[in-house]
Amino acid sequence: MPYRIPFNRATLLGNELNYIAEAVERGHLAGDGEFTRRCARILEQETGAKKAFLTTSCTHALEMTALLLDLQPGDEVIVPSFAFVTTVNAYVLRGATPVFVDVRPDTLNLDERLIEERITPRTKAIVALHYAGVACEMDAIQRIADEHGITVIEDNAHGLFGEYRGRKLGSIGAFATQSFHETKNLTCGEGGALLINDASAIERAEIVREKGTDRSRFFRGQVDKYSWVDVGSSYLPSEVLAAFLFAQLEGRDEIQSGRGAIWQRYSDELAGWASAHDVRMPVVPEHCTQPFHMFHVLLPSMDARTRLIDELKAKDILTVFHYLPLHNSEMGRRFGGKTGDCPVTEDISERLLRLPLFHGLSADDQSEVIDAVSAFDAF
Ligand SMILES: *Cc1c(COP(=O)(O)O)cnc(C)c1O
Repeated sequence: MPYRIPFNRATLLGNELNYIAEAVERGHLAGDGEFTRRCARILEQETGAKKAFLTTSCTHALEMTALLLDLQPGDEVIVPSFAFVTTVNAYVLRGATPVFVDVRPDTLNLDERLIEERITPRTKAIVALHYAGVACEMDAIQRIADEHGITVIEDNAHGLFGEYRGRKLGSIGAFATQSFHETKNLTCGEGGALLINDASAIERAEIVREKGTDRSRFFRGQVDKYSWVDVGSSYLPSEVLAAFLFAQLEGRDEIQSGRGAIWQRYSDELAGWASAHDVRMPVVPEHCTQPFHMFHVLLPSMDARTRLIDELKAKDILTVFHYLPLHNSEMGRRFGGKTGDCPVTEDISERLLRLPLFHGLSADDQSEVIDAVSAFDAF
């Protein structure tokens, strides 16, 4: 049974189904048609990335970065332990070894002060995941990467429209990946994008995404037949999905302002409850502009979190926790991870709780969530 107030619900802005009908009428349902081009153009304009390629998911965009980096077995990739599984799996698939680094206690982002000591001659990349769309300390991370000749990849699944010191997230690393999964700010169900800022990687990315062929060059008339020229796979979403996504991208201001209002209301109306009970609200540094992907609180203990979740469930409201630490997961332990390696991740992952936040969450429903949370005082 779905909850009366769900954690997330996908909503239509209005033009999604019209654009899908238009895509069908155009007679081009495979990837890289008119709607894919329009989506890519908006992503390039909004982020300032040199090139945007729509992909079938953020996971696949991450996998593309692993292919583009030519990762070999034994190469190392620095990743936060407090992360989504595919943020790491994309590199493990190529035989790379994940090197788990803890997160900062404030923003819950990769702790840039802990990176340098984990770099070895085999380190090839650093994956900077902007948690909740609040930027990692990109100046420090990029400086370390430059000193060691390492590539920076932004996992920007949460961070579309976010900024770091006036720079758009997705435009800072050599690569950035976006997600349009149902749970993200803008969606087409399952989808993603690879943003490229290292111009020298653009041509090869086009080939990797097109099954390792130069099919795109063929369509542009640059070669007279297309053939197998590199490794690759099939990472193009159908025009049906791109049509849906285009409607969401067109409605980005409506979505973002709605989410911003919901986020701000939680922040304003839960502040008193939080400070009275030693609950920590989200930390957004001055120099970061966040895109309102998530509203999370840190409860004082796992036990308090469990009881709050249960109490809200009894009121038919779904709230959820988030990433389990990757370094001491079953898979993480195979790479040598063990409990105690990333103490901040281990601690906060037991105490973090996310509240319902989606386009279309009504003011009445949000009032109910706020009232139910505020009523909880059994710490
Ligand atoms: C959602 C998410 C992904 C994966 O996105 P998909 O499009 O579902 O593959 C990767 N990283 C982060 C941080 C995410 O939140």
